[in-house]
Amino acid sequence: MTDNKLAKVPNSGEIIKYINETLEVPNNPIIPFISGDGIGPDIWFASVRVFDAAVKKAFDNTKKIEWMEVYAGEKAHELSGEWLPEETAQIIKKYSVAIKGPLTTPIGGGFRSLNVSLRQILDLYACIRPVRHFEGVPSPVKEPQKLNVVIYRENTEDVYAGIEWKSGSKEAKQLIEYIRDNFGKNIRDLSGIGIKPISPFNSKRLVKKALQFAVDKNRSSITLVHKGNIQKFTEGAFRDWGYEVAKDDFSSQVISEADLWDKYNGQANGKVVIKDRIADSIFQQILLRPTEYDVLATTNLNGDYISDACAAQVGGLGLAPGANISDEVALFEATHGTAPKYAGQNKVNPGSLILSGVMMLEHLGWHKAADMIVDATQRTISEKTVTYDLARQMEGATKVSTSGFADAIIANL
Ligand code: NAD
Repeated sequence: MTDNKLAKVPNSGEIIKYINETLEVPNNPIIPFISGDGIGPDIWFASVRVFDAAVKKAFDNTKKIEWMEVYAGEKAHELSGEWLPEETAQIIKKYSVAIKGPLTTPIGGGFRSLNVSLRQILDLYACIRPVRHFEGVPSPVKEPQKLNVVIYRENTEDVYAGIEWKSGSKEAKQLIEYIRDNFGKNIRDLSGIGIKPISPFNSKRLVKKALQFAVDKNRSSITLVHKGNIQKFTEGAFRDWGYEVAKDDFSSQVISEADLWDKYNGQANGKVVIKDRIADSIFQQILLRPTEYDVLATTNLNGDYISDACAAQVGGLGLAPGANISDEVALFEATHGTAPKYAGQNKVNPGSLILSGVMMLEHLGWHKAADMIVDATQRTISEKTVTYDLARQMEGATKVSTSGFADAIIANL
């Protein structure tokens, strides 16, 4: 790609390819990154040093990521007048794997959110958020280590599809009339209207990805989280389609919770158990019976809520990684936003982006480097060398800056 307006292709490095549905990763892959807005550059420039040091050490200098900056958000707007230049999504698509810092939501920029737009343009239909506790991280619960889940959140539809009309708008009025005249259902005048589409296509491909992960990684269960007792044809349908995929595509590796007890006397024998829970109950369950949950698969809005709740339970957003993926593209990002009041202060916790990079290294198959970062992060936290967000809750902690935390992790690699 030589005709990029903003991004420059590095002089060395090779492209990651998908061949026969497998990722082919060269020793020097080119990986695009977006440094992000607000605290984005603080955490990105700290994190990238950790990734490079771990890769160098894990593979004795035989592997190296060639980073390629691509632009979105404020930096893109300054350079080109556009918040999300077309080339950015095209480059991410071409290079298959990318990582980003948080992006601001421009007021009046014509965007609901740059992140949601990127996910929609690239059809990154699964948002994956692993949540685990690092020993020593302060948490509001007594035994935070008992929660260890991976959340698969549908990323493209539900109320996030952006199909909604304001109270009193022409469209809202027309819809209210149409529904009254044709379906006999009354909606109060001046209601705002939002549409919640949940399709078999999107539900099934999300659950399929979550099931594949659970099977590949020998996870014990997958729970379909839904609000189907009330929203029968959207949330309830999601649950039904999820069970259908398990039956149609994973019958030899997955059993239902009902069959587990009715037919197998509670013995899963290495199979993944598929069950479902109503969304309100899962918020109680993760607090009261966290060990009973492993992989969670859910619709978009439920997934948004449950991932923040799980992150809080293990100590907050500073250590909450994520990935947005399609079948061909994976874009890794921290779960938190741009925290504008801390921007440029070299203060916040880069842990969330560092752990998103760990997910990226695992995706590349570079497990040794990924494991080294996880171990070094744990060691650094155990030594109580942490950023302000954790230091203020830990007795005897040494408070370090964003870059100082990265330095400490590198020293512990
Ligand atoms: P936020 O996550 O940016 O910040 C909320 C608070 O969480 C901060 O004030 C801070 O106290 C804490 N926090 C967040 N990240 C931290 C870190 N790394 N270390 C320590 N503390 C941290 O949420 P917000 O204030 O609601 O959103 C600010 C902006 O970010 C908005 O423009 C929003 O649209 C955007 N946003 C972007 C993403 C994304 O890019 N994926 C996600 C969420 C919000």
